[in-house]
Amino acid sequence: MMQVLSVASECAPLIKTGGLADVVGALPAAMAAEGVQVRTVLPGYPAVMQALTDPTIVLTGQSLGVPFRVLAAQVGDLDLLVLDAPQLFDRAGSIYLGPNGKDWPDNPLRFALLSQVAARIGVGAISDWQPQVIHAHDWQAGLVPEYLHGLGGSGKVGTILTIHNIAFHGLADASLLNMLQLSPARMNRDGFEFWGRISALKAGLIGADRLTTVSPTYAEELMTDAFGMGLDGVMRQRRDVLSGILNGIDEAAWNPATDPTIKPYKTTKGKTANKAALQAEFGLPTSDGPLCVMVSRLTEQKGVDLLLDALPTLLARSGQLIVLGSGATELEEGLRNAARDDHVGVRIGYDEALSHRIIAGGDCILVPSRFEPCGLTQMYGLRYGTIPLVALTGGLADTVINASPAGVLAGVATGIQFNPITADALRSAFTRLCDLYADGPLWARLQKNAMSHPVGWGPSAQAYAALYRDVAPSS
Ligand code: ADP
Repeated sequence: MMQVLSVASECAPLIKTGGLADVVGALPAAMAAEGVQVRTVLPGYPAVMQALTDPTIVLTGQSLGVPFRVLAAQVGDLDLLVLDAPQLFDRAGSIYLGPNGKDWPDNPLRFALLSQVAARIGVGAISDWQPQVIHAHDWQAGLVPEYLHGLGGSGKVGTILTIHNIAFHGLADASLLNMLQLSPARMNRDGFEFWGRISALKAGLIGADRLTTVSPTYAEELMTDAFGMGLDGVMRQRRDVLSGILNGIDEAAWNPATDPTIKPYKTTKGKTANKAALQAEFGLPTSDGPLCVMVSRLTEQKGVDLLLDALPTLLARSGQLIVLGSGATELEEGLRNAARDDHVGVRIGYDEALSHRIIAGGDCILVPSRFEPCGLTQMYGLRYGTIPLVALTGGLADTVINASPAGVLAGVATGIQFNPITADALRSAFTRLCDLYADGPLWARLQKNAMSHPVGWGPSAQAYAALYRDVAPSS
């Protein structure tokens, strides 16, 4: 059986700030179906340590001046290797941000240690287990190829880096070269240097055997000035090893027929009771228009400002809005203001169960992102018969089929896309939404199409398995 070490800073259901955790958490089960065993190495944050029962110590040591242990444990269907380094990971609060809302100052060291320990496991540091492939996720695991190289491990284990979001570069001051045990000879344009600083992500982009990102469209976009976030040149250089593999969703956790957090339903008729319950929960009256919902980090990326601008168009057509999210203060503030309208409900915070009730009860799920590597909530929407209204970008372009007149006639449309990504285009999309919603049979057809659209891991797991086979050293 192919053995793979997955390296990431978050993993659902143990620790999650975004879609990265969902993917890292779902990958092992999806890959098992393809005959691949995935073990996941994860920092020992308090939430992770508390979830371990009966862990075994498989490695003890010191790297980058930090003492650590690696604990092996099974949690649900996850086969974990937990990096227990209390000095770096035993902290309350957010995994990335200190109490002042800024990155922990030692983030470069924290995730360099994660990458260094993963590389050591890659060259056989754990006596009874040797991975054939290391699958690194995002900048937090970006230094894996660099450290592997330093350990003489290139060629002993294949490497894949998956880009979940190129906006996060993992930058560190050049003065940390020594502390991070990185080679000064590589601190240049062809190496991991990014405008005078160390970039953990760039190290992975230039060093990994293969690169993937989470949708085919985002793979193309990454090579452009508009989306590459300064790394588009590197992406173009490496275009031959880059592929886009769509994320799937956890079809057990997101199944309207069995979801314990909602009134379960098999057909869209069952949505009515969930919508009524949701309106009641948020104190919204009944209305003739569509109930739009959004579950999201509240950042510039997610287009919350566009939504606030375009909202009057939706409300003028008797539409309603419910948003669950947290993030930038000014966006939270803008939403709270919007919620003064009787037809708008806002909950600031993070709440898994509420996210299910919202997605089940909504008529339409909004994802007006300026860029979106893959996006998951539009896929939850498809599965729950909650029509996605999305910006035409990244994974949103790959997972939703626009209800153009031809698409509706052919019976293949699953949602609404808008482009360019502006408040004006979103206004027109709201108008199209309300027109479609007003046509009962057409709307029902759209919902049926959405619910039967595949959103699982099958084809993507096959694509990852093929990549693993490609990069694994021949034995
Ligand atoms: P990103 O990774 O950029 O945040 P994704 O759409 O890929 O965006 O993944 C976001 C994940 O986080 C989804 O599973 C979504 O349901 C969840 N999520 C985001 N905000 C919240 C929230 N406030 N409460 C509950 N779940 C949330």
